[in-house]
Amino acid sequence: MIKSLFRIEAWGSNLMECDYIVLRMRSPPPGFRFHFPNKLRTSSKSLLVPFRLNFSYCVALDVVESNPTSDSGYSDIRNSPSRFREGFRRKPRKATIRNLPNAVLLGENIEKDVRSKALDLDRMETLRSCSRVLRTCASERSLNEGRAIHGQVIKKGINPDSHLWVSLINAYAKCGSPTCARRVLEEMPERDVVSWTALIQGHVAEGYGCDGINLFCEMRREGVRPNEFTLATGLKACAICMDLNFGRQVHAEATKLGLDSDLFVGSALVDLYAKCGEMELADRVFFYMPEQNDVSWNALLNGYAQVGSGKEVFKLFSRMRESEMKFSKFTLSTVLKGCATSGNLREGQVVHSVAIKIGCKLDEILGCSLVDMYSKCGQACDALKVFKMIKDPDVVAWSAMITCLDQQGHSLEAVKLFLLMRCAGVRPNQFSFASLISAATDLGYLKYGESIHACIFKYGFKNEISVSNTLITMYMKTGCPQSGARVFEEMTDHDLVSWNALLSGCHGFKTCDLGPRIFCQMLVEGFMPNMYTYISVLRACSSLWNLGFGRQVHAHIIKNSLDGIDFIGTALVDMYCKSKCLDDADVVFNRLINRDLFTWTAIITGHARTDQAEKAVKCINLMQQEGFRPNDYTLASCLGGCSHIAALETGQQLHSMAIKAGQVGDVFVSSAIVDMYAKCGCLEDAEAIFRGLVLRDVVAWNTMICGYSHHGYGHKALETFWTMLDEGAVPDEVTFLGVLSACSRMGLVEEGKKQFNSLSEVFGITPTVEHYACMVDILGRAGKFDEVEHFIEKMELSPHALIWETVLGASKMHGNVEFGEKSAKRLFDLTPEVDSNYILLSNIFASKGRWDDVKNVRTLMSKRGVKKEPGCSWVEISGQVHIFVSQDGSHPKIRDIHLKLEDLSQKLTSAGYAPKMEHVLHNVTDKEKKEHLNHHSERLALGFALISTKPAKKIRIFKNLRICEDCHDVMKFISDITNREIVVRDINRFHHFKDGACSCQDYW
Ligand SMILES: [Zn+2]
Ligand SMILES: [Zn+2]
Repeated sequence: MIKSLFRIEAWGSNLMECDYIVLRMRSPPPGFRFHFPNKLRTSSKSLLVPFRLNFSYCVALDVVESNPTSDSGYSDIRNSPSRFREGFRRKPRKATIRNLPNAVLLGENIEKDVRSKALDLDRMETLRSCSRVLRTCASERSLNEGRAIHGQVIKKGINPDSHLWVSLINAYAKCGSPTCARRVLEEMPERDVVSWTALIQGHVAEGYGCDGINLFCEMRREGVRPNEFTLATGLKACAICMDLNFGRQVHAEATKLGLDSDLFVGSALVDLYAKCGEMELADRVFFYMPEQNDVSWNALLNGYAQVGSGKEVFKLFSRMRESEMKFSKFTLSTVLKGCATSGNLREGQVVHSVAIKIGCKLDEILGCSLVDMYSKCGQACDALKVFKMIKDPDVVAWSAMITCLDQQGHSLEAVKLFLLMRCAGVRPNQFSFASLISAATDLGYLKYGESIHACIFKYGFKNEISVSNTLITMYMKTGCPQSGARVFEEMTDHDLVSWNALLSGCHGFKTCDLGPRIFCQMLVEGFMPNMYTYISVLRACSSLWNLGFGRQVHAHIIKNSLDGIDFIGTALVDMYCKSKCLDDADVVFNRLINRDLFTWTAIITGHARTDQAEKAVKCINLMQQEGFRPNDYTLASCLGGCSHIAALETGQQLHSMAIKAGQVGDVFVSSAIVDMYAKCGCLEDAEAIFRGLVLRDVVAWNTMICGYSHHGYGHKALETFWTMLDEGAVPDEVTFLGVLSACSRMGLVEEGKKQFNSLSEVFGITPTVEHYACMVDILGRAGKFDEVEHFIEKMELSPHALIWETVLGASKMHGNVEFGEKSAKRLFDLTPEVDSNYILLSNIFASKGRWDDVKNVRTLMSKRGVKKEPGCSWVEISGQVHIFVSQDGSHPKIRDIHLKLEDLSQKLTSAGYAPKMEHVLHNVTDKEKKEHLNHHSERLALGFALISTKPAKKIRIFKNLRICEDCHDVMKFISDITNREIVVRDINRFHHFKDGACSCQDYW
């Protein structure tokens, strides 16, 4: 698109220069037109390096003198200028010194011509002929031929008149020899404004805007007064190098000379101001001009199109049509560009119909503009229709069409079109490659993208910044951040887009720690971050859980006043949620004006994952009120939140929500529902839903196997595992965690060993530390401490706290002081801050009556500042979660709870219960110890549940720690006395108490 834009611009400037020079030259010959190159020639200077002082003369004479015996007629050239031009056209445009044969031939011709007839001709006629031929040379950019003429002029001693001088300057300037042109000017006896203008013009036409400005200044220093063409050329020079300041000075000079209302000066001024984006000034000059021509109209239209005021472009175009100004396809192209930027399809269609009405041929320029307009207005089909009508589309048109298809989401069509383009023999450019890479990214075809990467190398576009940027994005999006980083490193130059592309890949598990570093490096290199930068770096912080850096980025965003952007707001909410800073997330969330599905999902999952399932469900309801439907991801993560805190009633609400939204068929949602019921202690419900599932993925199977295992139904867990294998599902590492823990709970040592070995040998899964811990648990629970020791020794993993915690638990269960001390010692080094290790060890000593050792452990604990994590239990009554902390008296119904527990305690004693005082670590009396036990959090929760629910209802209690042995006994007795079913979920598993027994068979 940029390319086609450039083409129109170049054309606009050509028209202006052509017209005013043709019209205002001193009696220009008929049919004379300047020809300007579209491309800025930068290599023309190096052509002159081998020549020394006065080389223009030397070279010119060389050409002539090396062929002294030519006899062709000069008049032939004069009489048949069309043939002369024909002959030139066949030659290469860039005539170099080495390219002598052609020049030699011409030299011969001229030599003969001059020798035989020149003397007979009128001197004036010779001069005019020379001037004419020189102008043709200039228009054909034939440097050598121009030099040959110059050589003849010198050799024959022709005294040039002012016309010929100007023609010489013009010829050299236009043929890419501005230095020669300059030397001719210096040879001139009288330098007037016309010769200066020709020289400046030559430089400007070659794209040397600064040189043009310098020459303009030099001319003024010599006291030559500029005319309207000089001024217009000077302004053109300013427009090339966007020198608005000097342009204003030239404008002032024009006003002083009374030339500012001149059509050409005015047009040049409009062009300059429009190019510099000073639309107000451009507008004022334009409407101040007594009359406007198509050049000034185009300049103004182009300016508005460039600053993106599509509406203004169309309005101007309507005025232009009213003024009956003739317009060309270039005008139409500019207007189409305006329609494209404002995305106004209706206006674009009007311009298209005007083009058809005036009979404009659908060539590359107009075709490209139409394709671009339809593409930007989202009409890929219309764009394709126009494209198909273009005869012989060039690379710009092909690229425009490929870009359109890619941007409108027709990636596969874009790839196919590229193939057609290659078949048509069109060489791709950087734009076609960039669009193709983007299409490959959307399609996720990494291999195809890589082959295009190779093509980019082959065609030499690897240093093209836009191409490299799309390559980085492709590698980042297709999960190859290393390749993306390599492309970034190989780039010679980076822009903001390259940095953003690099950052966009830094949120994965392996790359997220690079995010903050890249962000800092980018700031060091002086780049100003934009919205995309912040979104990417915040994502990296979320993945890293780096709240500190996230807060710094937030401060940076506020400093740059970008915190009002909704996308950044969503990224901030996500970052705070993932870092478990829900208060900050709420603040940012509430400030957002437009909240979309992503923002809602972020805040809902944030609450669900931080044990605030209730709040998450409230958010879901609010979200529905705002007109957003929760998607499967929101529902699944909310259900996950309910499972975590065992909020059954909230989970049931979500279940009904999922049924209403028709999302129970989704495998993620259904697995989450099964998991929620299993974790909330409703194994029957979980089972029923699991059986009804049409599709069972590995997650659903795992949920059920682990559910059975946690509830103490080891045989059911193993049965499910075997069914899973029968149905052809492939187990993963989580499946084996469920299977191994089932074996451990059932005391199936041999089965456990068999499954542990099959894990790596049959299913090729590398066992993780959790699997090893399960195996240690199996052996430890069975009291096989020698095997445990042996197993740990040959373990391939470095010693891990989880392994020793398992050993310590087993030691406690079997009262093995030796292993207990050994494992606790390792744990005190590995994780000195974990309170439960100290407590377990002191309990082992207490059970053996080693009170001094108990005291030592407790001293060590207080010396290290380790505090016992308070026991915390909760029950959900009528949709509300009631939380009880051990020894806590803050609940409004605490008096009734205490009374209920007191009442039960008497019944317990008569049923044969004896409190296990050794579990109280405080130095207090037995009565106090008994009361202390009576106020454990799970008992407070039980007391509250008993007084608040109907007699037949199952009671579900959840605890943050392992249930203590004394409470376990109490629960068994109470289930019998009150004839109630009690389910307690502690940190490890479920205990189903019924008729005085527990599902764990006192083995946990
Ligand atoms: Zn207890
Ligand atoms: Zn139990």
